[in-house]
Amino acid sequence: MYKSTRSKNENSEITSSKAIINGMASDGGLYVLENIPKIDIEELSYLNYQELAIRVMDLLLDDFTSEEIRKIVYQAYDDKFDITSIVNLVKTRDCYFLELYHGQTLAFKDMALSVLPLLLQEAKKKNSVKDRTIVLTATSGDTGSAALSGFSKQEDIDIIVFYPTSGISEIQEKQMLSFSGNHSKVIALDGNFDDAQRLVKTAFNDLRLKQFHLSSANSINIGRLIPQVVYYFYSYSKLLEEEAIEVGEKINFVVPTGNFGNILAAYIAKKMGLPVNKLICASNTNNVLTDFFRKGIYNRQREFIKTSSPSMDILISSNLERLLYYASGNNESLVSELMKYLIEKGNYQINEKIKKGLGDFYANFATEEETLMAINKEFQESNYLIDTHTAVAYSVYEKYVLETGDMTRTVITSTAHPFKFPKAVCQALKMDYNGKDDFTLIEELSKRSNIRIPRSILELKEIYSRTIWSQSEAYRNLEKLLGEIHEKN
Ligand SMILES: *Cc1c(COP(=O)(O)O)cnc(C)c1O
Repeated sequence: MYKSTRSKNENSEITSSKAIINGMASDGGLYVLENIPKIDIEELSYLNYQELAIRVMDLLLDDFTSEEIRKIVYQAYDDKFDITSIVNLVKTRDCYFLELYHGQTLAFKDMALSVLPLLLQEAKKKNSVKDRTIVLTATSGDTGSAALSGFSKQEDIDIIVFYPTSGISEIQEKQMLSFSGNHSKVIALDGNFDDAQRLVKTAFNDLRLKQFHLSSANSINIGRLIPQVVYYFYSYSKLLEEEAIEVGEKINFVVPTGNFGNILAAYIAKKMGLPVNKLICASNTNNVLTDFFRKGIYNRQREFIKTSSPSMDILISSNLERLLYYASGNNESLVSELMKYLIEKGNYQINEKIKKGLGDFYANFATEEETLMAINKEFQESNYLIDTHTAVAYSVYEKYVLETGDMTRTVITSTAHPFKFPKAVCQALKMDYNGKDDFTLIEELSKRSNIRIPRSILELKEIYSRTIWSQSEAYRNLEKLLGEIHEKN
């Protein structure tokens, strides 16, 4: 059973299918499992990705049957992915990269957003919800296209995506606009990701909008989080298969972090019994999380900096609330209090008990210069091309090793295809990128790296038109737009 991070109320306990439908608890909290189930690691070795996903998800989704989960998993992880193994573990000179970007929109968001629409559909059936659902999503770039791709085939679900006008790459924007259609609206919001996320959260708590059956594709939905737990187990079983580690040997994960969803999934995997030494939280110059882990103070009152890793340009990491819940020993009232501080004052400080509960983590950040240097270095030394987000993680990993001397085997989650952010990658490789569009740069990068251009990029060459709303417009127009979608159906 799932419950809210903010309420002790026994009645707030609900099934996983209800939690997926609701997206977020009505008290503003996020759904969590009070007791996280354990899994036997040895049972998971030599399973393919789908079979492993079924085992892990079955444990975390209480009211879905194994058959339902099996059907969903095989439908989600099919030839939409450009490798049959779904994810790929690559060994380089000093670590492993877990490539999670082989789905349709070339970022790790596809791992969860291929599954969430199917879970939501099944959850609605289970709870006899006949009304259409409108999925509202804020994106810093990658969630939007992955959500649109995942939901576009669902007849009884509409989706509205808000993305910030600046900061995202040309490829990211084109990917989203290419999915604009009958059941999907894509709107550029004049602001940054936090503004878009605030708009969506406000809509969820707006009583006037209750009639619309809103749901969320953001990582606040447990249906996003659960599929992400799987690949941490998968990488471990691959390392076992390669005999790079022994059963029970601990490994590190480095995760390029924004909204704290991906790394939280790793934390849950650890709680389920995955042998993990450190979870290394890597940030870009929006290093609010580095400060949090190092000083115990979360302070979002700082300048929002646009970087070359836009999917991590976030000052309010929503999923951190779930970590606070577990690290405080499931203390709902404390979590509520801290979240109230965050909303009202823009910051909060954690107590000693929570601080102790964060011992699994190491945190650091990479500057823009360090990020580009990491791409260059990895390409020179290992002939391996990584994107800007993964480069932030790699750079932080180097800092971690220098600081701690820890030589534990380490897996870096590689969250986006390098061709998704071609300008920055070309800049890092010191190629001439001025005045060239993303497609030209991708062709040049493909020649240089010998990586073939993914089919999904080749299909994006068309010109698309976009809709831009100012923030005040957005708050005014949203109700009208929801009404139109509602009536149309
Ligand atoms: C979303 C995203 C991240 C950040 O993941 P969170 O779960 O939000 O912490 C990192 N890299 C890429 C490429 C992303 O799309």
